[in-house]
This record gives sequence, C-alpha cells and structure tokens, in this order.
Amino acid sequence: MKIHFHGAVGMVTGSCYRVEVGQTRFLVDCGMFQGNKTLKERNYGDFPFDPAQIDAVLVTHAHIDHIGLLPKLVKKGFRGTIYATRPTADLMTFMLPDSARIQVTEVAQKNQRNERKGLPPLEPIYDEEDAERTLALIKGVDSSVTIGDSVRAVFRNAGHVLGSAFIEITLTEGGQTKKVVFSGDLGAKDHPIVEDPEVFTETDCLLVESTYGNRVRAEEKKKDRLKALATIVRDALKRGGNLIIPAFALERSQDLMHDLIILMDNREIPFAKVIIDSPLAANATKVFARYPELYDEDATALLKAQGSIFEHPNFTFTRSAEDSMALNGQKGLIIMSASGMCDAGRIKHHLKHNLWRRESTVLFVGYQAEGTLGRLLLDGAKVVRIHGEEVRVEAQIREITGYSGHADQNGLMEWIGSINAVRDRVFVVHGEDDARAELARLIREKKGFSVHVPRMGESFDLLANVAPAPAPGQASAAGAPAPAPAVTPAHDSFNLYADLTIRLAEFMRREKDESRRRTLLEELLRKM
Ligand SMILES: [Zn+2]
Ligand SMILES: [Zn+2]
Repeated sequence: MKIHFHGAVGMVTGSCYRVEVGQTRFLVDCGMFQGNKTLKERNYGDFPFDPAQIDAVLVTHAHIDHIGLLPKLVKKGFRGTIYATRPTADLMTFMLPDSARIQVTEVAQKNQRNERKGLPPLEPIYDEEDAERTLALIKGVDSSVTIGDSVRAVFRNAGHVLGSAFIEITLTEGGQTKKVVFSGDLGAKDHPIVEDPEVFTETDCLLVESTYGNRVRAEEKKKDRLKALATIVRDALKRGGNLIIPAFALERSQDLMHDLIILMDNREIPFAKVIIDSPLAANATKVFARYPELYDEDATALLKAQGSIFEHPNFTFTRSAEDSMALNGQKGLIIMSASGMCDAGRIKHHLKHNLWRRESTVLFVGYQAEGTLGRLLLDGAKVVRIHGEEVRVEAQIREITGYSGHADQNGLMEWIGSINAVRDRVFVVHGEDDARAELARLIREKKGFSVHVPRMGESFDLLANVAPAPAPGQASAAGAPAPAPAVTPAHDSFNLYADLTIRLAEFMRREKDESRRRTLLEELLRKM
C-alpha cells in the first residue's frame, strides 16, 4: 500500500499522486506543469510509471494543473475510468480539447522556428483526438465511488471552483485498512458563488495543499473585496483607458461577473462595457448556469432577483479571434481574458496593446506563479517581452488578493484545525518550498501531527508508516526540517535569458559611446 508523489511537490502545478493498493493502481489528478520553460518541459517526458497499468484516475477539480496530462495518459496507454464530480466532468468536456488545441498550436509555431534553425520537429504532448478519447473515459460521480474491493472514495466540496472536491479514500489490503484524504485545492471562505469548503474529522494520512502556506491575505471579506473592486474600476475608467483583468476562465471570470453585476446594480461603478474575451470562460459560464443548486446564499439570492447571475446588458462574450482583435485601440472597456497568469492566450495581445499606455490599468485577481509574465508585472517590471517584442510598462498595475480561489494560511490552518486526528502523517504538497516549510511548521506546532514535506518521485508505504528519510539538505525529522530542494528553479535560465536580452537592448539604446558598447559586447562574447 503505497503513495508516490509525481507532481506538485515544490511547486503548485503538475498535481499527480499514484496509489498502489493490492492489485489496484490509481492516480489522484494528472495535471500539467505550468510556469517557466523548465517546468513546462516536464510535460514532454515519459511518465515515471506505465499508464497501461493504471486502473483509474480520481480527479479533484477541472483546473489544467490537475487534469491537463490526462490526454497524454490516454495517448500512452491508459484505458481505465476517470472519476470526477458531475460539474468537473462537464467542465472537462471543453477544458481538455482546448488544452489540446493549445498544445498543437504551440508546437506548430515552435516547429516553424525550429525548421528555420535547422532543428528537428517536436511532437505535441497530445492532440484533439487524444482529448476526445479521454472524454469517453470520464464518469461523473454523485458523491462516492468504489474501485474493485480495495478502494472506496468519497468526494466532498472543497469550495475552490465549481465542482471541486477533496477526496476521502479508504484503502483495504490483506485485511488492513488505511484512510487517506487528498485535499485537492482548498477554497477560501466567503468566496463568490461556491459554498465554503466542507471539513472532515479523522484520517490516517492527509495530503494538504499549501499554495498560500506562508501568506495571510487582506480583503478576505466580501465587503472588502467589493470595495476594492469598485475603487479600482472607478479609477481605471476615470483615467480614460481600458481595465484589463487577466482571469482564469474557470471560476475567477464568473466570480468577477457576479461582483460586477452587484456593483453596477448598486450604482457603485458606472455602467461600463464588460468584455469577456475567452471562449473557454463562455463555456465554463454555461456549466455554472447548469448547477444553481451548488451556489452559496448570495449567488442564490442574486439568481432569484435577476433571473441570471452571468447575463447583463453590459456584458459581451467574444467568440472569434476577429472579435477579440477588434478590441485593440478601443477605450473605456473592462476586458477579462485568459490565461490568468498571462503566459498564454488572448490576454497577451491585450497586454501588448495596453501595457505601454499610461491611461491603462491591469488588475490581477489571482495567484501568479514565479517566472510567469503575470508575476513579472506584479513585481514591477518596467519592460517585458510579449511574443518576442519588448513592451514598456506604463499602465497602472493593481491587485486584489481577495479573489484567490485558495484558502490563505489562516484558512488552511482553520480547515486543518477542525481535524481531530491524523494518526499517521500529513504530507504538505502543492506549494513552493518556503510556503510548504512554513505550513509544515505551523501544523506541527499547533496540531502536533507528524508532518513530512515530500520531494518529487518520493514514495511512502502506508502500512509500514516509517518516517521518510529527510531529503538532502533537510534537517532530521526531529528538528525543524528545511523544505526539500526544489527540483526546478522557479526563476529558470530562460527567465534569465529574457532579462539579459531586455537589458542588452536597453544598454544599446542608452549607451551612445561606440567604444564602451564594443567593450561590453566583446566581453560577453569572450565568455561564450
Ligand atoms: Zn485549482
Ligand atoms: Zn492546483
């Protein structure tokens, strides 16, 4: 009876845990690695196990970093069943084909460049056909499912996005039973639309996410969140430019639509045109409309009063690329677009057309991973590269942390606080290393549970329950362990390369002295 950690350890993406119990093998999530190029390259390699030997996958929720490698699993031989809650199953029907189209387009563009450079062509991680074959294996679950006679899984609301679940799994092998809880991603309380996360009381093992393990956010309450949004919208419109909001297509876009309707109806912001420039967000919105029974009290009240929480005369959903391009050069719009971390999709075009304008505003409402364009902007970059072009940042950069789909440190500790017993061990996953270390320390101090911070590729024998060996550089289990070293640096050599090219171009413009220009360039070339 073993758990293997194949992703989301030392990082927030690539969630994938493999469980072996008796003759049964299953995965919890099979997510894509996202962020910088070094991380993304992990998506191309072989799985560290044989997909044909996996009987089932249990999916916590429909974010790509939890489901994005399912079509690759199928391409490499998986023929089992994929279990997910019904809303998650619905969301996957377009999230996976969309991800396939992104893979195919990205590789086609890369191959064009590679051909000109004389490099061999790459094969996409998977294509739309693989995604379609994956959809055929998905089964919607109401609340629980059994796999053979050794696995019983119960899906409970995690309050993170529509349909998101934490999964309580009971494993039986040779008459012995162990319970393991996989937290998936845990939502914050008071989050728009979805209900607050449920809790549970006891388990043998717990895998808990730690995205915000070392951060406490302000503006957590609904009224603070609405006030912050109203102020930023009013300021942005007063400046006369556009308000660009990079927003994840799933949940964040719907949350903002929900809050913008409230603010417009209360006359707290002007009736501006709101453009939802993401076909994926439009599709996700339809799934939200299908499950009103999952709404929280506020969303239910809004639905009763308005008849819909996502339709408004001022809202426009764009479909085609032409509709999206027609927005370039317009002013006074609120444009919501994906991806939420600005590393792909239409948002990059909107940033390219708006970042250099003083009257524009960019509002971040979600987690920005290290190495992404979103993080660079939030960290105050003055110049960024978009589609190989340098763009000066003159726009106002604003942030509201209260929309995060993740519980912050207080939220995580409150959720863990309601657990009476974790008999064997807590594993802190799905976080960058400093966040994991801090949450691990808090859980040990406040709850007295045994805690381990696993590293990539590590396994744990549930029946033996022996404390895993500390990772290299980690103090002994008795001390205050440092986190396992990150396998992939968050700021990789490609990020450094981008910094270097930007600085070099700036130097060439600024430095008018030819001999000083030559000296620096010759020095750089000598080192190569
Ligand atoms: Zn998520
Ligand atoms: Zn996640």
